[in-house]
Amino acid sequence: MTSLPTTLEEARALDARDPLRSSRDQFHLPDGVIYLDGNSLGCMPKATAARLRQVVEQEWAQGLIRSWNDADWINIPQRVGARIAPLIGGEPDEVLMTDSTSINLYKLAAAAVRMQPGRRKIITEPGNFPTDRYILQGLCDSLKEQPELVTLPPEQIPDAIDRDTALVVLTHVHYKSGRLHDMQAITARARQQGALMLWDLSHSAGAVPVDLNGCEADMAVGCGYKYLNGGPGAPAFVWVAKRHHERLNQPIWGWFGHASPFAMSDDYTPAAGLHQVLTGTTGVLGASALEIGLELFADVDMGTLRRKSQALTQAFIEGVERRCPEAGFVLASPRDAEQRGSQVSFHHPEGYAIMQALIDRGVIGDFRAPDIVRFGMAPLYVSFEDIHNAVEILGDIMGHRRWDDPKYQQRNAVT
Ligand SMILES: *Cc1c(COP(=O)(O)O)cnc(C)c1O
Repeated sequence: MTSLPTTLEEARALDARDPLRSSRDQFHLPDGVIYLDGNSLGCMPKATAARLRQVVEQEWAQGLIRSWNDADWINIPQRVGARIAPLIGGEPDEVLMTDSTSINLYKLAAAAVRMQPGRRKIITEPGNFPTDRYILQGLCDSLKEQPELVTLPPEQIPDAIDRDTALVVLTHVHYKSGRLHDMQAITARARQQGALMLWDLSHSAGAVPVDLNGCEADMAVGCGYKYLNGGPGAPAFVWVAKRHHERLNQPIWGWFGHASPFAMSDDYTPAAGLHQVLTGTTGVLGASALEIGLELFADVDMGTLRRKSQALTQAFIEGVERRCPEAGFVLASPRDAEQRGSQVSFHHPEGYAIMQALIDRGVIGDFRAPDIVRFGMAPLYVSFEDIHNAVEILGDIMGHRRWDDPKYQQRNAVT
């Protein structure tokens, strides 16, 4: 790893040599804001506003229904999916952009269980992003032969995967701690036992290199509005290894997954390949914004991106520990950059108030109950100068107890 900056000058020098420097200029970054929350909602690419204006004013207002053909709205799930594929180690025809991460997880988990008759267990971990657990709980509850949802800490999972395991569902980068699972090893263990492996890449896609085919994984889902910068509530994606396409049978049958939707027939016939994972009409505005977000990855080397990400997170950890050694922060992320995604989290009993005070000073991260302050470093637009300044502001807030103000205790609906 590059040597890490400790002064503003060193931070600026590192930025000047950053091979991803030109990416930052592609984003709208509000004045006075250091944005360390791209793991929750990515920044807006400058090109997005113009593209949406074109979609609204030309394709919709002028083209109307004709735009399904003329502007190729009909193929957006495949087109955007193909752009996601290289970021996750998939083939273009193995990825579709559609629905939300929650819905996609339901579809794929249900399809996976159907492919594994006689196997009764789904394995996942505690403390996963809540929707992943709720979706699996609801799925088990809905099935006649209810599978058992087995929840185990990560270190016990490999040994627990056995011939009775239908499916293992894990989030590659943990949303709170940023801990990175060993995708290769866990997937290999699942395969050896005949279990299917479904990865949630919500905090991985666009943040760390992923090689689904290299690991011989089975299925994956991921999020469009975090590191892919697709905008609030952007569509999500599914990836399914080609070897499973013909056996796939997801439970939410809809006309967009039909072999010939415009035949308008009474009975469902699934489309060939992955196409049958689609259900209903694509939200074209959101999909068009996500497409712009992905274009900004076209020339990005994921190895370069990973190196920058590791340097940013390491610089932040070292900066906070150097600037605020007595402030009570306890690192919640792995100290080893190899085991960490593109975020840094600390425990602190006053985490909520500290984060509100930071946001008041323009440093935007977020808080996750009960006591985690979380900082995402999206490598396309976060600079070493940002990290330096964020550490200085945090140091000031802690040194002067600026967080200790009743106005910072008030809880908003979204933290
Ligand atoms: C962000 C995230 C989601 C989001 O799900 P939605 O359906 O978009 O609300 C799901 N799972 C994980 C692990 C996430 O980080």
